[in-house]
Amino acid sequence: MADVPTFLVRPPLRCSERMTIAAPRVCGARATWMRPASALSEPRFFCALHSQAGDVLVPDDALFRRVTVTLEVMLCAVSSNPGVAHAEAVEQLERVIAGAGGVVNLHACRSQLGRWAPQPAVGPQKPGRPPR
Ligand SMILES: [Zn+2]
Repeated sequence: MADVPTFLVRPPLRCSERMTIAAPRVCGARATWMRPASALSEPRFFCALHSQAGDVLVPDDALFRRVTVTLEVMLCAVSSNPGVAHAEAVEQLERVIAGAGGVVNLHACRSQLGRWAPQPAVGPQKPGRPPR
């Protein structure tokens, strides 16, 4: 086996059962079972609902792929106090990301006071509707 890094943070493992409905495409629920590798497939993780005979409880040292997504999220603050606004925004994102099976690794949080300047509508407008 090639050298692999040791992670200090393991987000909850997620069930990889493929769903037949359009979205979500996989179950994604918290996985506690592992289907060992076979000639046809790599090891996969499953929730209790989608586990099958032959699956094993996920060992602590199971090899998994951890995805890191870097992005910028903008929210309107719920308080004019920067400290309160930052704390609430981070809590809100942590709650949403946890619901998706992720863990937040906060790098920075900043805010600015400003006003919105809506752009004039382009093209023909429906009569009776104010421009946005
Ligand atoms: Zn599942």
